[in-house]
Amino acid sequence: MTATPDFDVLVVGGGPAGLATAIRAAQHGLGVGLLEPKSSPIDKACGEGLMPSALERLVELGIDPDALPGHEFRGIRYCDAVDADLSAQADFPGGVGRGVRRVVLHERLSDRLQELDVARIPRRVSTVSQDSSGVTAAGLRARYLVAADGLHSTVRDSLGLTTTKRRRSRYGIRRHFRAKPWTSRVEVHWADDAEAYVTPVGADLVGVAMLFHGQGRFDPLMQKFPRLQERLGDAEPVTRARGSGPFAQLSRRRVDGRVLLVGDAAGYVDPLTGEGVAMAVDTSAAAVEAILDGVPARYENDWWRLTRRYFWLTEALYRLTRIRRVHRPMIRLLDAVPPVFRGALGLIGGR
Ligand SMILES: Cc1cc2nc3c(=O)[nH]c(=O)nc-3n(C[C@H](O)[C@H](O)[C@H](O)COP(=O)(O)OP(=O)(O)OC[C@H]3O[C@@H](n4cnc5c(N)ncnc54)[C@H](O)[C@@H]3O)c2cc1C
Repeated sequence: MTATPDFDVLVVGGGPAGLATAIRAAQHGLGVGLLEPKSSPIDKACGEGLMPSALERLVELGIDPDALPGHEFRGIRYCDAVDADLSAQADFPGGVGRGVRRVVLHERLSDRLQELDVARIPRRVSTVSQDSSGVTAAGLRARYLVAADGLHSTVRDSLGLTTTKRRRSRYGIRRHFRAKPWTSRVEVHWADDAEAYVTPVGADLVGVAMLFHGQGRFDPLMQKFPRLQERLGDAEPVTRARGSGPFAQLSRRRVDGRVLLVGDAAGYVDPLTGEGVAMAVDTSAAAVEAILDGVPARYENDWWRLTRRYFWLTEALYRLTRIRRVHRPMIRLLDAVPPVFRGALGLIGGR
């Protein structure tokens, strides 16, 4: 005899993807349990730029993005890491973005979960087993399991879905500085072999996230960005450096029987377009809808439809960053042909 499930849906991982999945599922009346071993609020290496599209999606979860403590930004500014005269900027064609500290976003999503009475279970999942009627993980049973356990997903690994990782992949590291934001855009300082993303996240707080190849520590990496160092001057670092990577993590499939993968766990290339949170929320919505309709297999196609543009654009931009000395002509091109830059921002920031 099969045991009665404890939940309709077990969600593994309490980052943006897991929290969004649990909120959506609870909004639709499903019984949800969320497994997350870390205590709230959870911090993580992130650029913390919520694109206009991500803010729209938060509204659907019952969260008012304007009430999130943070700092608005209206576009992106690329600048050469060294040459002060070389830059290009454009604004999102519709809406604005918001820089929000990870812990702030996490707290608000967690509050929403509490409002919906979702059970939070402080357990780590190491293996998953399933049969025709349900899934078992960490001693609990559910009709479906949604894996939202991030870049290095244990659930994906335990199901044998992780594919051979790409030979070269990047890492990221971020830190915050007590400084008044000097621009209303996310500023991307572009060096030959790394970028630094500066996001305003408060009235006197900016985040600096660097993407690079190989291993690296924050201070030595900052030497690649003399213009940014000059801007920051003697601004006080107020968080410790936090890293993440390697980024390129792919999955053979997004659905395995009654297990569905969302957010970074479902596959990731690189954070350079700043769309991770938007994708996490989007893919979680599609997974919950497929579960509600009793056709989990449908999610595979839905996932491709939702993420195709991200993978295509990110892969193309990632390859561009691999070409030596390409960034200066690229910045000149973006400056000379503003519609190209605005068009690209429309793709990244829009739905
Ligand atoms: C340097 C950098 C800059 C970025 N910049 C941006 C940006 O500006 N804008 C943007 O939108 N995105 C950005 N991203 C991407 C964004 O951070 C991710 O896409 C997003 O966090 C994905 O959310 P997630 O919930 O899938 O995974 P995560 O946020 O990684 O959450 C996974 C959760 O699962 C839990 N977990 C892990 N293993 C287990 C287990 N075995 N059992 C139970 N729980 C488990 C973890 O504790 C964690 O809480 C950036 C990323 C990096 C690294």
